[in-house]
Amino acid sequence: MATVLGVGLVVGLYFAPSLFDRYILSQALPHLPGSEVPPPGFEAASSPLGIPPASTGSTAYVLQESRDADQPFVTYDPCRPVHYVVRTDLAPPGTDQLIQEAVSAVSAASGLQFVYDGITSEAPTKGREAYQPDRYGKRWAPVLIAWSTPEEAPELTGRIAGTGGSASIQVPGEPYVYVTGQVQLDAPGLTETLASPNGPALIRAIIMHELAHVVGLGHVNDPTQLMYEENSGQLDFGDGDRAGLALLGTGKCVPRL
Ligand SMILES: [Zn+2]
Repeated sequence: MATVLGVGLVVGLYFAPSLFDRYILSQALPHLPGSEVPPPGFEAASSPLGIPPASTGSTAYVLQESRDADQPFVTYDPCRPVHYVVRTDLAPPGTDQLIQEAVSAVSAASGLQFVYDGITSEAPTKGREAYQPDRYGKRWAPVLIAWSTPEEAPELTGRIAGTGGSASIQVPGEPYVYVTGQVQLDAPGLTETLASPNGPALIRAIIMHELAHVVGLGHVNDPTQLMYEENSGQLDFGDGDRAGLALLGTGKCVPRL
């Protein structure tokens, strides 16, 4: 847990094990009224919307595993945009821009295209529904980035600055695909962090770390990478993080989903 930031700043800088709520549908039934999944193919293009950068060649990354032993890792569908919303209640001042910058960094490193759908009042929940047609229409719910508190989100208790993860779904004959995700940020803890030297850059780095979980990276046992479980002053992705993110931009397009 050593950190160059000093003991006082360790609080709020510990990265949580990511939350990976997985939704498994053995049989997707998208055409039925009252369906638990949206109609297939929403916004699905015929080819990937972006091209990931060439790999750095580093192997200092870990990919979240699929539930399917034959599928080494799970990705978002690169043929459609990854929508996201922000619950800004409790947001420390000035952090809207940090979220946009963090999203841009993940997009540039993965080739995945993100679309900001604006502010939401949706609260983060452990078993978040992946499909919420009343709130978001007949499509997969956007990724929720929520400023929260340990009272609302117990995963943020103690030294946990944030959590991040995605839900994957499989239609028969296709690989698991991430369809939505959630980031929870500890607003009280990060408000303190914001006041520290490099505070805004640290918060941006924390959001980048959590968003990297959302698109499929796990923790790596290398403190020079941003995906190390605990931040020791890293402000940007390392070469391992970048290699992993580039790979996560190469997933299969699944228009049947
Ligand atoms: Zn983490």
